[in-house]
Amino acid sequence: MRASDLLHPRPEGLYCPPGDFFIDPVRPVDRALITHGHSDHARSGHRSVLATQQTLDIMGLRYGEGFAGTTQAAALGETIALNDVTVTFHPAGHVLGSAQIEVVHQGTCIVASGDYKRQRDATCEPFEPVKCDVFITEATFGLPVFRHPHDTEEIARLLKSTAQFPERAHLVGAYALGKAQRVMRLLRDAGYDRPIYIHGALAKLSDYYQGQGIDLGTLEPATVESGGKGDFIGAVIVGPPSAFADRWARRFPDPISCFASGWMRIRQRAKQGGVELPLIISDHSDWDELTATIKETGAEEIWVTHGREEALVRWCELEGIAARPLHLVGYEDEGD
Ligand SMILES: [Zn+2]
Repeated sequence: MRASDLLHPRPEGLYCPPGDFFIDPVRPVDRALITHGHSDHARSGHRSVLATQQTLDIMGLRYGEGFAGTTQAAALGETIALNDVTVTFHPAGHVLGSAQIEVVHQGTCIVASGDYKRQRDATCEPFEPVKCDVFITEATFGLPVFRHPHDTEEIARLLKSTAQFPERAHLVGAYALGKAQRVMRLLRDAGYDRPIYIHGALAKLSDYYQGQGIDLGTLEPATVESGGKGDFIGAVIVGPPSAFADRWARRFPDPISCFASGWMRIRQRAKQGGVELPLIISDHSDWDELTATIKETGAEEIWVTHGREEALVRWCELEGIAARPLHLVGYEDEGD
């Protein structure tokens, strides 16, 4: 069978006719397989959802317990039959619970990787390369200009700034699922042992991470009700990027605005956003990770999705690997 008969785009998302399921559908469907909990991949309202237990838990925290008709947990490495198709979830290294989905039918193997990264992250299982015929890769940072520095270097810059400006608060913008917890964990690994103050929007997910054995240390709510402005002198405060534009952010003493994102590689973008201390920390692969991963899978065909498809397709062609863009719509990752 042709690979495109096993998986192909539909308006709802990537569809598998012989298995009768969608991967990360953007509209409600009967059967959804979900790679990870970011809101553009994991939506509520499906009749049944198959995902890792952590992704199911995260969806429950974000949408409430009735987020799907029925749910089924897929253990990493466990092979599950859906009609004539088998699927296996493998770690993707993107956020807690994230998985690539291997789809096999009549000897053809496609791996839909969802979002992934290769840099080590203590808050989730590391990416596991899977040999396949077709590898579906994201391309969020699919341009050679995107090369992420090591995350420990970026955290060292943040800590250096807190030492240099001990009277100021450091306000770190980080996405609520994954990035925020990774930044906190990196601070702990760098020896930062003061309480970290968090915006209310991060509380449930951060508690969940701690419950899953990912130690984030002492977290305190960043609310004025819990103290005066003076309490935040020299503090590190983590909140979702959206909170930085509102009144919440103005309660802190002379704050230094920081933002942890792969997009911070682009100076202009940091400047426009009023970010004084850009931290290049991404939960997506950079150019070198994308190209190395493509080679590692041994796939003879690459399908490229959400992001800068053209450059990666061109790179594959120059390497003698067949490639094409998938043109899926509706993915604007919240966890860059
Ligand atoms: Zn994501």
